[in-house]
Parts: sequence; structure tokens; C-alpha cells
Amino acid sequence: MNLWLSEIAKALNGELKNFSDDILVSSFSLNSKNISKNTLFIPLKGTRFDGHDFVEEALQNGAISFISHKEIENVRVPYVKVKDTLAALQGLASYVRDKLKGLTVIGVTGSVGKTSTKEYIFNVLSCKYKTFKNQGNLNNHIGLPFSILNMPEDTQVAVFEMGMSNFGEISKLSQIAKPNIGVITNIGVAHIENLKSRYNIFLAKSEIQDGMPESGILIINNDNDILNLHKKELKRKVVTIGIENESNFRAQNVQRHQNGFSFEVGGYTYFIKSFNFHDIYNSLFAIAIGTILGIDRQLVKEAIRQKERLKRRFEVIKKGSITIVDDTYNASTHSMLSAIDSICEFDGKKILVLGDMLELGEFSEEEHRKVGRYILQKPIDVVICTGKDAFYIFDEAKKKEGSRAYFVSKDECLDVLKREVTTNSTILFKASRGIKLDEIVDEFLKER
Ligand code: ATP
Ligand code: MG
Repeated sequence: MNLWLSEIAKALNGELKNFSDDILVSSFSLNSKNISKNTLFIPLKGTRFDGHDFVEEALQNGAISFISHKEIENVRVPYVKVKDTLAALQGLASYVRDKLKGLTVIGVTGSVGKTSTKEYIFNVLSCKYKTFKNQGNLNNHIGLPFSILNMPEDTQVAVFEMGMSNFGEISKLSQIAKPNIGVITNIGVAHIENLKSRYNIFLAKSEIQDGMPESGILIINNDNDILNLHKKELKRKVVTIGIENESNFRAQNVQRHQNGFSFEVGGYTYFIKSFNFHDIYNSLFAIAIGTILGIDRQLVKEAIRQKERLKRRFEVIKKGSITIVDDTYNASTHSMLSAIDSICEFDGKKILVLGDMLELGEFSEEEHRKVGRYILQKPIDVVICTGKDAFYIFDEAKKKEGSRAYFVSKDECLDVLKREVTTNSTILFKASRGIKLDEIVDEFLKER
């Protein structure tokens, strides 16, 4: 994104300091170490560091200018003094978005599946449009505006993941990015600690409408109970995707193959290279958006098939006759149950290594028990639980006669697993990111 410094100052209502000749800025950085050509450094105040202490370093590393909410002495370069650099980052991103009138923005929110869905959508739209996406998980009040500022100017479509943990956050992101199309992947229980009920989570995700034009379209998962029940409360045109329920884009004739799933939508057969059943939903959003934005169905089909699996999100690793499913990226009840469902389709002995689902507050015990009770109904052979509240998964799962359920420390996990694993086993590893169960996966793989 190319912006003159004088334009930046005007857009932010800021004050130009040391100004003589105008400067063209073409990239933006929040990190004094990541400076490329014509970079404007934006120092933010964090909990541990204040970026303003690194202005000098950013300039030494080649930053062309910076903005600041502090008076910076002993610098010669022109800079923009603002009231608050975080608000300036967001304000500038909003300004840039307003400038790009021809740009189509897609905002993706929901309790789980945002990154996966964003990647499917990106793959599909890249077939026809110059498409941009936020990298990795840059989905919050800092990552999203940062992504917008660093978007190439000739971008035709941008796909942005939008995350939240409380009311007001999606509203803010939506008012910055102003999506033409909003996606709500599902309403689960992630962040229920802050929001207290699933209906409130629905309301918080619905804030995606706040920055959308009247003509905007919302695409929702019709098989999600809460979205299905409350979709009439949404204030934009609603397009639905689903498998079980009648929907605008409905996957039918779903079949599991050796390397993924196939399904039909509107007479066309699609294939995804994923073993996670729920990726069918994630890909359906991309099929819907591809159709809405006029992409040839053959190209959509190819783009869906080509999408690579994401690291540690139901990543399937084969070691001889043993199958390891690394789903340690994150966990909430919804994705736990979905992963357990998917694992039941695998052959041989089925072992679960599960850790805590974090941030569930007062709902935590019941949500963990729910997972335990679900396991009771499924053909699971061994359950190894670790962490704190994962105890409740164990406490339910142990109720099955002859069950092999364990509750152990993280250090003991590997030993128990090694005792239980036999040829032809499938092992699912899943927990919230904070539990760092990926360390156990890596150790297990190292020894194989
Ligand atoms: P985060 O909030 O951490 O950014 P996210 O919403 O971006 O997460 P993903 O990273 O796509 O979600 O996936 C997170 C976890 O949920 C993974 O374990 C993945 O296998 C699982 N998952 C992905 N999509 C779905 C879905 N539609 N339903 C249930 N589980 C899913
Ligand atoms: Mg994500």
C-alpha cells in the first residue's frame, strides 16, 4: 500500500514533525527488526514493552518514518505525532479500506474453522482474482489492520479471518475491514467464559454485520443449531451451507475415501484432501463464495482439491502401521467431538490423548464431561487424559466396562501411550494450544 506521509497525517488528524519534503511510504511494520524498503514503523504499547523505546532501532534498521504518541527527540526524520498509535493503526487501515472502493472483502468469523475456511476461500478466489489473505492467525485488533496496510494495492479480493473473545471486538474489526461478504462458520462454546451463553456468542459473531454494506451477504452453517435457530435475526441477506439440513449449498452423497472425502453440491462432485469431516463445511463456504463471485465450477473444484492440509489441524501422519492424528493446534467442545467422530472412521485400535479445553470458565467441568460422555458412545479403545479439567473427560470415559481410561501428568503421557500402542493403532492428540500437547506428539514421533 503506497501512501504519502502527508496523507497519513491528514487521515489520522496527526501532526507532522520535522516535515520538509513529502515521503512515500510503501510498507508498515510493528516490529523494529522487520524493516523493508520505505517502511513506516508503528510503535505500539504492549504489556511488557513499549514500541516507542525502539523507534531509534527501527530508524537504524532503515525505517523511513514512524508515527508516535510520544514526543521523540533527537530524530531528524519527519514523523507523524498522533494521540494513540493503536487507534492510528486501526484508523489508517480503515482509511485504506475506504479508498479501495472496488475491493471485495470477505470476513470470516466463527468459533472454530476460521483459518481452515479462509484458506479454502483463498484457494478458490485466487483462480480468478488477485486475492489477499491475512497471514497465519493475524485475526485481531492489531493483526487485521496490520494485514490491511500491507495488502498490495492491486488486490481485487481480500479474505480476512476475524477472531474475538468478547463483545465489541468483531464489530470493531468489521468497521475497519467493511466486508462485502461475511462468513460465520459456527457457534460453539469457545470464549463462553466471557460471554456466558451460546446465544451471546451468536450475538458477538453477528457483529460482523456492523461494518457491512446493506447489500452485504452473510453465509452461515445451517447445520449449526444456534445459527439455524437464530438466522432470522440477522440483518443481511443470508446464504446457507450444510450437509444435514436443506441449504443453498448442500453437500450430498458424502463419501470417505483413502485420502479424503468426496461430496456433491448442485450436481457437481468435489473432493477434499482432508480426513476431518468438518472440512466439508469449511470447503462449502468456499464453494458458495466461488459461485457468488462467478468462478467457473471446474476451477472451484480443482482449487478445493488442491488445498493443502494445515499443520497440526487434524494432520495425519503415518508411521508404519501406526496413524498419528495431530490436532493439537487447538480445542473446544465442538472441535473435540468432531475430531472424535472423524477418528472413529479410522481402522484398528483407537487411542485418544486429550488435554484441557481452556477458557471455558464456569462451564468447564460440564463441557469436559460432555466430551467424556460422548466417548462412552463411541468405539474408542483407550483414553489418556492430561492437564487439569481433562480429569472430567476421564471421569466419564472410565465408566464404560473394561474401559482403558487414564488421567496422568503430561510427563507420564508418553509412557502410558507407549504401553497401549500396538500395531494398527490410530492415535488422536488434541487439546487447547496452551497445553502444548504438540510436544508429546513430537517426542512420540522422534522415538518412532
Ligand atoms: P483460532 O480461533 O485458534 O484461530 P480457527 O477458528 O481459525 O481457530 P482452525 O485453525 O481452522 O480454527 O481449526 C482449529 C481446530 O478446529 C483444529 O483442530 C481443526 O481440526 C478443527 N476444525 C476446523 N474446522 C472445524 C469445523 N468446521 N468444525 C469443527 N472443528 C473444526
Ligand atoms: Mg485461526
